[in-house]
Amino acid sequence: MAVDVARKREELLVLRERILRAANDLAADDEGHGEINSAAGDQHLADHASDLVDLEVDLSLEENAGNVIAEIDDALARIDNGTYGTCAACGAPIPEERLDAVPYATLCLDDKRREEHA
Ligand SMILES: [Zn+2]
Repeated sequence: MAVDVARKREELLVLRERILRAANDLAADDEGHGEINSAAGDQHLADHASDLVDLEVDLSLEENAGNVIAEIDDALARIDNGTYGTCAACGAPIPEERLDAVPYATLCLDDKRREEHA
């Protein structure tokens, strides 16, 4: 098993915290001028979160912060029961670089594409 799940758990927890804060900031911004400019304030929380993770968060945050939180919780549960890093559709190991980019990924890239095009 090549995936360092202890480190992934850390990343997921940090990511979860950041999303919650950013979602709160977005909600607060809606009452003001509506600009999204608060993401830079909490870098210390994410020393080892990669730029790719940041990108993924930015892309998904506005629409479905709640969904991402649910997926993170699901990933944490899968770390606990030993199925983390395994594709939920075909059972193949999810490549480590994909987990680095999307630590809460549940599908290998092939199955992810299949799902998106279904
Ligand atoms: Zn698969």
